[in-house]
Amino acid sequence: MTQKNINDMLTSYDKKNLTICTVCSHSSLQIFNGARKEGFKTLGIAIGEKKKFYDAFPLGKPDEFLIVNNYKDILKCTDELRKKNVVVIPHGSFVEYFGADNFIKLDLPTFGNRNVLMWESDRKMEREWLEGAGLTMPQEIKNPKDINKPVIVKYHGAKGGKGFFIAKTFDEFQKRIQKNKSFTIQEFVMGTRYYLHYFYSPIQDDAYKLSKGSLQLLSMDRRDETTIDEVHRLGSIAELEELGIHPTFVVTGNIPIVMRESLLPKVFKMGESVVEKSLELFGGIIGSFCLETVITEDLEFKVFEISARIVAGTNPYIAGSPYSEMIQPDLSTGRRIAQEIKYAAKKNLLHEVLS
Ligand code: ATP
Repeated sequence: MTQKNINDMLTSYDKKNLTICTVCSHSSLQIFNGARKEGFKTLGIAIGEKKKFYDAFPLGKPDEFLIVNNYKDILKCTDELRKKNVVVIPHGSFVEYFGADNFIKLDLPTFGNRNVLMWESDRKMEREWLEGAGLTMPQEIKNPKDINKPVIVKYHGAKGGKGFFIAKTFDEFQKRIQKNKSFTIQEFVMGTRYYLHYFYSPIQDDAYKLSKGSLQLLSMDRRDETTIDEVHRLGSIAELEELGIHPTFVVTGNIPIVMRESLLPKVFKMGESVVEKSLELFGGIIGSFCLETVITEDLEFKVFEISARIVAGTNPYIAGSPYSEMIQPDLSTGRRIAQEIKYAAKKNLLHEVLS
């Protein structure tokens, strides 16, 4: 899909009658709730079947469901969706399970810049972008034989940290590695984890100003990961490893968190550099994004990943966060996305925030 295709599509849209649409999963309750608060109609794409639990959350339930057998079938429904003036909001599960290739082809206006996908999904390009922006990332260990401190081994395309493991020596690495999968080895950064939820608007100037538009910090979370976050209840990791029990990194939920205020200048500086570099590299990371960081005891940030869209870590803040409360009461990331679309529609700037 080129930007021209999307812009052509938008000319036939009734801009006063847009429908906010996403796949029913991940942060969809929040997205629908936020859209509803901003006066939009909402449509939920349910994969396989309509999930009954939406009935229990009337303010998070979409006005309408579209049920498809599988993710790929979304591609067959785009004519129908366009007639409803649908704007798609991508989230982590949507892009992961639909597949970046399909997402790029999707002939519907989507919130954000699709060019970000290749920069984010290729670990090499991601590093080029983030380090190019002056951020510090965990050191990469190219040769497993060079492991001389704790490392985390990450399989490519693993969903939500699945299968990742820690090794402290080459021997430990050899014992655990699944040779048929491609992987990256990173220094395991000691410190505390903060997942920072930003929002970049290329069309509004009323926040932390950048060369174009402005940046907000809406919230932050820490992920709850099983079994690493609770494994100590059974004994030390070393003891358990002797028994063949290894910690894992599968996300099960998200915990609200607030950072000491003196670190906020660094948080904004990092967000600023990431956006400025993205403008230079591929036209900008638009809307919500998350830097996944570890803060060391020297109060340095190491960024191990960027997510270029709404993350599930924003879900604790459907009624606002300690940060968004200082922007506007009751402001979630889902609602902020809806506001951006509403503002863009009113000012005839949808082409700046949709691709
Ligand atoms: P997602 O795409 O959902 O963000 P992922 O599968 O790409 O997840 P990461 O976010 O890179 O995986 O890592 C999963 C978890 O592993 C992190 O949430 C964090 O707890 C831990 N982790 C990742 N990299 C490091 C590191 N370099 N040092 C310490 N812990 C790390």
